[in-house]
Amino acid sequence: MSDTILFLAHTEADGSLSRIALDALGAAKSLGGTLLVGLIGSDVQAAAESIAGCGATRFLGVAGEAFAESRYASDAAAVEALVKAARATIVIAPQTSRFARCVAGVAQRLGGRIDSHVTAIGEGPQVSRWYYRQRMEAAIGRAQRPWFLLVESGVAEPHPSRDREEAVSVELLAVEVSSHTRVVGRQAPKAEQQTIRPDAKLLFVAGAGWTKKQADGAAHIDDAARLILGFLGASGASLGSSKSLVDLSGEGQAVLPFLSHMNQVGQTGATPRHPKGLSTCCHGEEPHVVGWRFIRERRAVNLDANCGWARGKADVLYVADAFAVMERVNALLEQTA
Ligand SMILES: Cc1cc2nc3c(=O)[nH]c(=O)nc-3n(C[C@H](O)[C@H](O)[C@H](O)COP(=O)(O)OP(=O)(O)OC[C@H]3O[C@@H](n4cnc5c(N)ncnc54)[C@H](O)[C@@H]3O)c2cc1C
Repeated sequence: MSDTILFLAHTEADGSLSRIALDALGAAKSLGGTLLVGLIGSDVQAAAESIAGCGATRFLGVAGEAFAESRYASDAAAVEALVKAARATIVIAPQTSRFARCVAGVAQRLGGRIDSHVTAIGEGPQVSRWYYRQRMEAAIGRAQRPWFLLVESGVAEPHPSRDREEAVSVELLAVEVSSHTRVVGRQAPKAEQQTIRPDAKLLFVAGAGWTKKQADGAAHIDDAARLILGFLGASGASLGSSKSLVDLSGEGQAVLPFLSHMNQVGQTGATPRHPKGLSTCCHGEEPHVVGWRFIRERRAVNLDANCGWARGKADVLYVADAFAVMERVNALLEQTA
């Protein structure tokens, strides 16, 4: 029996669809069954029109101020209504924090199953996801329906946004919101303080070399902090770190205060998915081999021409002093700002 596939997405604050949502749509299309679109947001019309040519037979929506913000009760009610109206057997949605909170609950309500953090979708359909910190990959197929899949970015070629300038008639569903929870505001660190930025085009990896004694016999932690934060601010890159660098704080050594274990990439850290990577002052096997496994274009700056991992795993190795290189790069970025 062929599946009815619902591509599910919530809009961003400006009414658009995020990049990861377009990746999920690419994945939904690749399955080849009957495709429907289900959108949630304060106003979903512009988002629907931006993907008018995706081949969906119906565009469903749940819209209104109550659906502008992420909130379990309203989002779960909206997703449930969309899945029922679509009679979907497979639901494909982006792995956003908003959906991560509510879609599993809807799967439970509807007697379905959910797999999250899906990294590949193939024929069958069969999906892949990683277990035990990326050491084991499982291929999963299920007979149970509805089957909900939360997919990671990069799972498929993104569907092009604004594919056709065309009006779309969105069937808006009436959904009662019984929740009394009101979103009164947000408290989050300032954007420039958030160094982990999953949607950034570049992953900047800092290694322990930034804290080591340099040619003049002294360590230059303050310069390192200034250069790294300056680069992150000017480029919008996300900050990754080697384990040695984040572990230093436990050893009572001078550290870069904005780094935590959340920044660590590698075997016992994260394996983020950015199009490009730049590693600096970093020698380790784990950050270069495992931490970078999903990065497509990789460059490294290291004083040591014989650094085997930087040489072996980077597409380009600059044998240079990262302090000097980043000083110059930041100056160039400032000129173009
Ligand atoms: C079970 C296990 C799991 C592990 N998991 C992880 C993991 O998930 N992630 C991880 O990162 N590590 C992990 N490690 C540790 C890993 O093996 C390395 O020890 C670590 O990555 C090394 O960190 P580093 O390259 O920053 O530091 P170092 O090895 O100290 O390298 C510093 C580098 O900086 C360079 N340098 C110094 N000054 C400059 C300068 N001015 N300009 C340019 N370059 C300069 C030096 O040439 C050197 O190559 C794990 C280890 C084990 C045993």
